[in-house]
Amino acid sequence: MNCILVGPPGAGKGTQAKKIVEKFGIVHLSTGDMFREAKKSEEGISKLLASGQLVPDETVVNMIKKRLEKDDVKKGFLLDGFPRTLNQAEELDKMLKTKNIKIDAVFFVDVHFDEAVKRISGRRVCSCGASYHVDFIPPKVEGKCDACNGDLIQRNDDKENVVKDRLDVYEKQTRPLIEYYKKTGLLVNIDGLKNESEVFEEIKKYIKAK
Ligand code: ADP
Ligand code: ADP
Ligand code: ZN
Repeated sequence: MNCILVGPPGAGKGTQAKKIVEKFGIVHLSTGDMFREAKKSEEGISKLLASGQLVPDETVVNMIKKRLEKDDVKKGFLLDGFPRTLNQAEELDKMLKTKNIKIDAVFFVDVHFDEAVKRISGRRVCSCGASYHVDFIPPKVEGKCDACNGDLIQRNDDKENVVKDRLDVYEKQTRPLIEYYKKTGLLVNIDGLKNESEVFEEIKKYIKAK
């Protein structure tokens, strides 16, 4: 099974991705996570992330192309945060065609603007990949990760002055993908406003029915 998660920043894609890959034994491909790793060594990327702007298509596409060469994606994969522009979607289609790989579903996890702002503002993350929310999904001990006891931090681009810019980038550059995938018949609408487990139930129901 190969799937894609799309939706605005803060919709809950990363949270659902963790549950999906665990349940179905597929590989999680998060371009955001990959760039956060890369930014430790690359200044250009670091600046783009901090300002909420997208990394150039060519960079992202090449990174995904390389990642799809690895053997583990044969188990199936979940793309989280890619594609994010129409051009990226077209490049992905080309890539998959030459490899004879098919996408089974594109889950569109949607929340409205105000909810996205609330979720992003309260997000706290651990270096182990776990993510929490100060009000909605709090850790057992404040500031500490349930899974590894690591310190929770706020992402730089989750600070208030960047959040609106990121949502703006989403509206302009990523939202057009919804129409694109609707036309392919792969789009599955998921109500992201429900709680974490309800959203997961919806996605699971769809995958199992397939
Ligand atoms: P995305 O990957 O789409 O940017 P995340 O999965 O990181 O989003 O979730 C954004 C924030 O919202 C996090 O703080 C997360 O704990 C919280 N969150 C995720 N899903 C839900 C939900 N269904 N209800 C309330 N809060 C949620
Ligand atoms: P969120 O889901 O909260 O918006 P991500 O972790 O998916 O955050 O992405 C963080 C940042 O990484 C983005 O703001 C952007 O700078 C960069 N990024 C991630 N995926 C892509 C992509 N497919 N194309 C361009 N930039 C990307
Ligand atoms: Zn942790």
